[in-house]
Amino acid sequence: MHSVSNAIAQISERIAIAARGAGRHPAAIRLVAVSKTRSAAEIGAAVAAGITDIGENYLAEAQPKIAALEGAAIDWHFIGAIQSNKTRGIASAFQWVQTVDRARIAKRLSDQRNVSDPLDVLLQVNVDNEPQKAGVAIEGLSELANYAAALPNIRLRGLMAIPRDTDDVETKRQSFRRLANLFEDCRPHGCADWDTLSMGMSDDFELAIAEGATMVRVGTAIFGPRSR
Ligand SMILES: *Cc1c(COP(=O)(O)O)cnc(C)c1O
Repeated sequence: MHSVSNAIAQISERIAIAARGAGRHPAAIRLVAVSKTRSAAEIGAAVAAGITDIGENYLAEAQPKIAALEGAAIDWHFIGAIQSNKTRGIASAFQWVQTVDRARIAKRLSDQRNVSDPLDVLLQVNVDNEPQKAGVAIEGLSELANYAAALPNIRLRGLMAIPRDTDDVETKRQSFRRLANLFEDCRPHGCADWDTLSMGMSDDFELAIAEGATMVRVGTAIFGPRSR
């Protein structure tokens, strides 16, 4: 039987090995457990095994889980597509939003944040320039970053991407490297507070860490395969 706590222990070990291999401290990598389709009880098991960050893709699916786990020490991360009629709910229920890719959504999240600490935000970048993919185009990134950084109730922390799906390691590495370069290039130019580079999922988190990820988002490898 799949055990969430065993899986978390194994992934933590793999993260530590990948971090040391890249000359980095294992504690510099934050693990977000992605719990779409999973129950509040499964999330509770992950939290009992040491997880502190949970990622959800849909507001309506997340809300009852967030309510069920109220009081647990969890930072909730919104990692799905954002429709403008969902920003109010997202801005009040989540601590992080990783998928901001346009000014209008950033503005709404800031305006609608009704919690005293600012919302932690990552800009999602369409790093492989895929036509149907979410994310700001690379050419539009600095303008969006300047805009979002000036909003009062947002704390812009860095970048996130979902690279093109491929089994080719070198192609994937190039995508991660492109995002890492955008992250590093921006830091001296008004993005000095940036500390978060979110890339890498179940199939490729070690490669992402080798290329500089500070945050990985892992679902299947923690909770087992999804049925939908
Ligand atoms: C589902 C999802 C993940 C986790 O994917 P796995 O392959 O199950 O690890 C990570 N990031 C985002 C944005 C997702 O939607």
